[in-house]
Amino acid sequence: MTKTVIIASKNDHKVAEYKQMLSDVDVDVKSLADFADVPEIDENGATFSENAHIKAAAIANHFQLPVIADDSGLMVRALNNEPGVHSARYAGDHDDAANRAKVLAKLTDKTDRSAVFHTTIVAQKPNGSVLETVGEVPGQIVKEPRGSEAFGYDCLFLPDGKDKTFGEMTKEEKDEDSHRGRALVKLLAQFDEWWHA
Ligand code: IMP
Repeated sequence: MTKTVIIASKNDHKVAEYKQMLSDVDVDVKSLADFADVPEIDENGATFSENAHIKAAAIANHFQLPVIADDSGLMVRALNNEPGVHSARYAGDHDDAANRAKVLAKLTDKTDRSAVFHTTIVAQKPNGSVLETVGEVPGQIVKEPRGSEAFGYDCLFLPDGKDKTFGEMTKEEKDEDSHRGRALVKLLAQFDEWWHA
């Protein structure tokens, strides 16, 4: 029997990353875009972990299917780890360009431009079985956007040890070593155990 997993997101970029990264696993990957009656979820947690648990529980309970939910964001050291859990709405609701402009403006007089991209993934089954993993990538915020401006802060983030921002990388290059990829590798290592729990 085919296993179905719902990625608890409507973000095309995020869902595409999951589909690509899960392509070798024997699961039918769906996203919230595949369902009509998606419940409103109030992501009011104070941490990435709380938000990922809120999303995973709401979707698993509503659809009675296994769910992979994540909460991700950019933490900039000189900004007290802002935008953090507010990454999607830092300047305006899911207005990526305004969010990026706010980060760049706040960093103009700072010498420390170090940052961390973070993902917490929570996988939850309707029976309550839960698995949580974390992935982080350290890097620097560049002074001008570099590469595709399609997804969040990708064009501002230069991972340590790389010469391309996430926005300049191909999808494959980013997936190979992203915050989401690192969390997912850990999840996949425990996937069968979680699935059969
Ligand atoms: P979410 O709540 O986990 O969907 O992510 C919150 C926000 O963080 C997104 O709207 C993006 O602005 C940003 N973000 C999360 N992951 C990434 C990424 O991989 N690249 C760029 N921006 C990201």
